[in-house]
Amino acid sequence: MIGYGSDVPPNVEVRRSSRRRRTVSAYRDGEKVVVMLPSRLSKAEEEQWIETLLHRLAERERRRRPSDADLHARALDLSRRHLGGRAVPASVRWVDNQHARWGSCTPDDRTIRLSTRLRGMPSWVLDYVLVHELAHLLIPGHGPDFWALVGRYPKSERARGYLEGVAATAHLPLAAADDEPDVLAPTHHSAAG
Ligand SMILES: [Zn+2]
Repeated sequence: MIGYGSDVPPNVEVRRSSRRRRTVSAYRDGEKVVVMLPSRLSKAEEEQWIETLLHRLAERERRRRPSDADLHARALDLSRRHLGGRAVPASVRWVDNQHARWGSCTPDDRTIRLSTRLRGMPSWVLDYVLVHELAHLLIPGHGPDFWALVGRYPKSERARGYLEGVAATAHLPLAAADDEPDVLAPTHHSAAG
């Protein structure tokens, strides 16, 4: 965390209220961030709270909209936790040209791409897509060994149900099976029963 010293950043508006005795909060309002604080704080306490709240807000926003670097770090962590660290992607990034796929991977150069349509979905769904594509770095097809590997991620079945529900609601075309694996391929549905 980077401290702000004694200066409040220019895009931060501090609102003090005598009625706010215990609660503090921060939220984004267009270009600026509004920090709500009780009016009776000392200058030092105020600075401390502003720093803490801005940090929390940034964390919250980052979790909601992870960057490519965040995705990569998350994929490495998921690989470590569920795949014994064997799947090591060279890069993981968002793409917005995958309309019929949630994710894809190219084992040759170990790159993984996720559809930006996953943004805003629960993190366990995003994690499932990452695990799925990570597993493809180790196993290309959708055979039983592949699903056994993906099944190590505890919320796999639930996440697949979630994505199928989203696809059904949005009337998205299911991707035809091709050489590039994808999460919506019809073969995926057979294992769900
Ligand atoms: Zn697949």
